[in-house]
Amino acid sequence: MEKISIIVPSYNEEESIPYFYEEIKKTFHTLNYKLELIFVDDGSKDYTLKVIKALTDDKCVKYISFSRNFGKEAAMWAGLNVATGDYVTIMDSDLQDPPSLLPKMLDLIKNEGYDVVGTRRVTRKGEPVIRSFFARCFYKIINRMSKVEMVDGARDFRLMTRQVVDSILTLKEYNRYSKGLFSFVGFKTKWLEYENVQRVAGETKWSFWKLLIYAIEGIVAFTTVPLTIAIIIGLIFCLIAFIMIVVIIVKTLVWGDPTTGWPSLACIIFMVSGIQLLCIGVIGEYLSKMYLEVKNRPIYIVKETNLETK
Ligand code: UDP
Ligand code: MG
Repeated sequence: MEKISIIVPSYNEEESIPYFYEEIKKTFHTLNYKLELIFVDDGSKDYTLKVIKALTDDKCVKYISFSRNFGKEAAMWAGLNVATGDYVTIMDSDLQDPPSLLPKMLDLIKNEGYDVVGTRRVTRKGEPVIRSFFARCFYKIINRMSKVEMVDGARDFRLMTRQVVDSILTLKEYNRYSKGLFSFVGFKTKWLEYENVQRVAGETKWSFWKLLIYAIEGIVAFTTVPLTIAIIIGLIFCLIAFIMIVVIIVKTLVWGDPTTGWPSLACIIFMVSGIQLLCIGVIGEYLSKMYLEVKNRPIYIVKETNLETK
């Protein structure tokens, strides 16, 4: 019998995990597959680990517990590393990724020849309006700039074949932006659309700032266009400066030079130095990512697990 691994990144999810487990079990009753359920406790501060351990009487339940909170990206990476299934999927523990989609996803992979079935939310119901607006802007911008396509509303909930998982495992970078990495590896992908579902319990871990920083990480990880934009702005300003110099020389020669224009000069200095700082900041972003990358630190550290290999 073929095996499906479900990776469940969990951070402070003591309330939702029991619901999640129940739903998954229900779904698998009707499916003719072996289940491997890998909970990754991402340094939770509540009783998440205890709740997970209570489920381990069920032999299909595996867990990895991190030494601290390393973030969802690290949790997904840990899960992908240890998953042994013929098919692998990542699901949130809050039931926002409906398990009811699994049979359809499996069918598409087995019978229609897809390698990956991804899911995307077509509505952002229940989300603050400003957040939705910025999210849309982000996808527009990054898709303009990056060659790797980022699908608006795409979730991390996706079913992949072993071949796809193995190719993702070859991407060992430290700064992981999975939405991009999944697209980067390619393969024949089918997108299933569904309406946003509210969390079953607990609350979201994403604040607006966290999302903004995550968005910048995505851009830095998948395109160097901001560096090019810095060069172009620099060139435009050089050109403007050159034209202004010519105009001033001509004016001085023709009409003499009444010393005016200090306020405008101050404004120009402010603007240009602002743009310079901005561009240095952009370069700094890339530099800092390189810095973190060359340090080659582990993406996560395991404190406890019921798996034989780490
Ligand atoms: N999560 C995690 N580590 C973190 C933050 C979140 O493992 O540092 C998990 C969380 O437990 C959940 C999933 O990632 O299972 C998605 O998080 P959340 O529901 O807060 O995000 P949203 O669905 O609102 O995008
Ligand atoms: Mg959620």
